[in-house]
Amino acid sequence: MYTAWESLNSPLDLPQVTPGLSIPESSATVDVRIINTTTYQRTKTENLFGKAVIGHENLSFPSYSFLISNAQMGVNILFDLGMRRDWWKSCPPGLTEYISDYDPRASLQVCVETDVADILDTDLAEFGITSNSIAAVIWSHHHFDHRGDMSRFPGHTKLIVGPGLLKAHGHELNRSDVEGREVFELAEQDFPLEIGGFPAHDAFGDGSFYLLSCPGHTVGHFAALARVTSSPKGTYVFLGADCAHHCGEFRPSPYEPLPQQVSFRSSNYSFDNIISTPQSPRSPTTFVTRKPVLCAGDFVAQCVHPRQSPTEPFYQTPQEPVVHNYVDAHDSVQKLQAFDAHEEVLVCISHDSTLMNVLPFYPNTINQWYRRRYKQRLKWEFLNDFDVGGKKFGCGRRFL
Ligand SMILES: [Zn+2]
Repeated sequence: MYTAWESLNSPLDLPQVTPGLSIPESSATVDVRIINTTTYQRTKTENLFGKAVIGHENLSFPSYSFLISNAQMGVNILFDLGMRRDWWKSCPPGLTEYISDYDPRASLQVCVETDVADILDTDLAEFGITSNSIAAVIWSHHHFDHRGDMSRFPGHTKLIVGPGLLKAHGHELNRSDVEGREVFELAEQDFPLEIGGFPAHDAFGDGSFYLLSCPGHTVGHFAALARVTSSPKGTYVFLGADCAHHCGEFRPSPYEPLPQQVSFRSSNYSFDNIISTPQSPRSPTTFVTRKPVLCAGDFVAQCVHPRQSPTEPFYQTPQEPVVHNYVDAHDSVQKLQAFDAHEEVLVCISHDSTLMNVLPFYPNTINQWYRRRYKQRLKWEFLNDFDVGGKKFGCGRRFL
């Protein structure tokens, strides 16, 4: 029987069959905690995507670190670190003049309040995982908004990087990031598995956490797949790193077209506010007000989507040189779309500001995301970034 709720959620277009992911069986799981590294960045959306969707002229985004804990093995690792507080020390030569922490006219405005080691060592929840307990840091890639400050971690914390990174970008790294610690660069033969089309490396050897090789954004770019529950159902978190920079780069998709009715929550809060006042940054969770919005999907497709499509993402994969290799980067987005369309997988990209509106953050885990239905709440939340009111298109307001 077709319920009213199902008809609201039925897609505008017939979805394509989602490819299987071939995730190996395992009962081993990890705890995943998202750390807001307090790195915030703002740039013109056109710098990344060529043309902004109306209302989204500025792209403002956080940077997340993911604390992955394998309780069975007693091992804690971090996936990415955000930006170091003295960001100019890890900034690529020649770029410093385009980046500022105070000038809103700069090509990239940044604001960094603290760093991951300090966040862990404050250990507000007193659950005992400090910088000293981190066995390894994985860099999804070499960009300075992911590398953080390795010198804040003890010498026994290993650094793990993707294939080819050291040869291509070793000269750009800080000596303090690599000196006095073991640095492991995974090679292509370290990825004997294939999950969702990505070559995969079983990081703990128990099937709880896989590193996925997805060059494209950069040489040696990693994504990862964490198994967070194994019963009664296997559920997963896909760490997409910089496969995409905004959810509009992979939603909607041929597997998950815009529905007849799109629901998200509008906010009178602009993420821009965090970095427009870098001297007094404020926690974004303290002053967000939201109201539920239900909007006709065909209106969003016709009046907001730049190509009037219910099945293509709002934004297309950036061209080179924004990405290192367009073909690989686009291929990664298409594979990510398949993960995103599986109900048992929650996709978290490094710079998705909407996660802050919905998910619990460190020290809490996101392991229960499926049971708490966070994915449904997150899916179309990014539409809040666009001018979905549509007045500029003459379509009028069609909120229900
Ligand atoms: Zn990034």
